[in-house]
Amino acid sequence: MTSARRADAIVIGAGIVGAACAAALARDGFQVTVLDRAFPSAGTTSVGMGHIVAMDDSPEQLALSAYAQRLWHDLAPELDPRSELDHCGTLWVAEDDAQFAAVRAKRDVYAAAGIASEILDARALADAEPNLRPGLAGALYVTGDMVVYPPGATLRLLDIARANGARVRSGEEAVEILPNGVRCVHETYHAEVVINAAGPLAARLTPGLPIVPRKGHLAITDRYLGFVRHQLVELGYLTSAHVMTNESVAFNVQPRATGQVLIGSSRELVEWEASLNRDILAQMLRRAEAFMPALGELSVIRTWTGFRPATPDKLPLIGPWDAVPGLWIASGHEGLGITTSLSTARLLVDQIVGRAPAIDPTPYWPARVHSASAA
Ligand SMILES: Cc1cc2nc3c(=O)[nH]c(=O)nc-3n(C[C@H](O)[C@H](O)[C@H](O)COP(=O)(O)OP(=O)(O)OC[C@H]3O[C@@H](n4cnc5c(N)ncnc54)[C@H](O)[C@@H]3O)c2cc1C
Repeated sequence: MTSARRADAIVIGAGIVGAACAAALARDGFQVTVLDRAFPSAGTTSVGMGHIVAMDDSPEQLALSAYAQRLWHDLAPELDPRSELDHCGTLWVAEDDAQFAAVRAKRDVYAAAGIASEILDARALADAEPNLRPGLAGALYVTGDMVVYPPGATLRLLDIARANGARVRSGEEAVEILPNGVRCVHETYHAEVVINAAGPLAARLTPGLPIVPRKGHLAITDRYLGFVRHQLVELGYLTSAHVMTNESVAFNVQPRATGQVLIGSSRELVEWEASLNRDILAQMLRRAEAFMPALGELSVIRTWTGFRPATPDKLPLIGPWDAVPGLWIASGHEGLGITTSLSTARLLVDQIVGRAPAIDPTPYWPARVHSASAA
């Protein structure tokens, strides 16, 4: 339901973050126009994995992703089949006793954040996922995590925005962000609120945003229904994702609604070099087979790369950009933007309308960029 009519708002970028912002703004009564230089979900959103995950790599990331997990549960009844929502949960897999001890610590961290999880011993893990190799120590099962098909969820969020009066303009490239406006190639738009949700390209429109592309590879198999039942991630994934090394791979496997198995993941800092790195891809597949040997017998039908919008402190940039009147930033979500799109949108809109947000917004404020460069 739409609230009282508010001001005009422009969202630059129809990826999942822009779509979530558009839906939240339109529901709050803003007259929203979404501009995308290509089309909805043309960017990173169409090349990610769609794991909705409470991530505990820092207290701030956990607060944002736990909030997001709750918002995805709230949104679930409104999603349509295009979103391919699967309440499969995550299994954080421990290889040995040392990692299994870390599973207990992880459970306590999640419990303190209000996230339900269960410890599976070696036998329970083997029962839950028979295609994992024997001899693994156990896992933490985070029951509330989910999987979505990101382009489908993005289209649904844009439909929600449209149902509340928003316009979505494809093929409209923002060339310059102005005070309370956006200059495009053929037209200039004016609005009280402008949101830069251009993903990894956000810094081209707002110089000074410390966002760099962090490349990832994915591979998808033919259909093997039931081969994998939960989102599976090795416990070491956090090290791979959180530490800004030049190259890393981790075991990260996802069941798709189609019966396909989506295999990730890698991270590289190679600027915008998009071609397949066969060496990294081979390392990634070897790592996956080390956990699930039978994966090697499946037919991989497609491989591709994408660019995560990464920031130096691993947190997204959500909040006002004081140098330009009316400008708000919603970008830099690295490998968690599908998950945190909904919490980003709610945090941003609460701040725009002056409502108390559900979590502390200050750790995500882009102002920390200025503080960091001043220091
Ligand atoms: C391999 C890989 C795996 C991932 N797995 C997951 C996962 O499991 N879970 C998770 O939560 N996240 C995951 N992510 C991260 C997630 O995909 C991203 O964080 C998220 O998609 C970012 O969305 P966005 O809307 O900010 O950016 P984008 O999807 O890139 O959208 C930005 C949009 O802005 C448009 N645009 C850019 N410049 C302009 C301009 N000047 N004018 C107008 N429009 C413009 C683009 O066309 C694009 O449509 C993964 C990413 C990768 C690469």
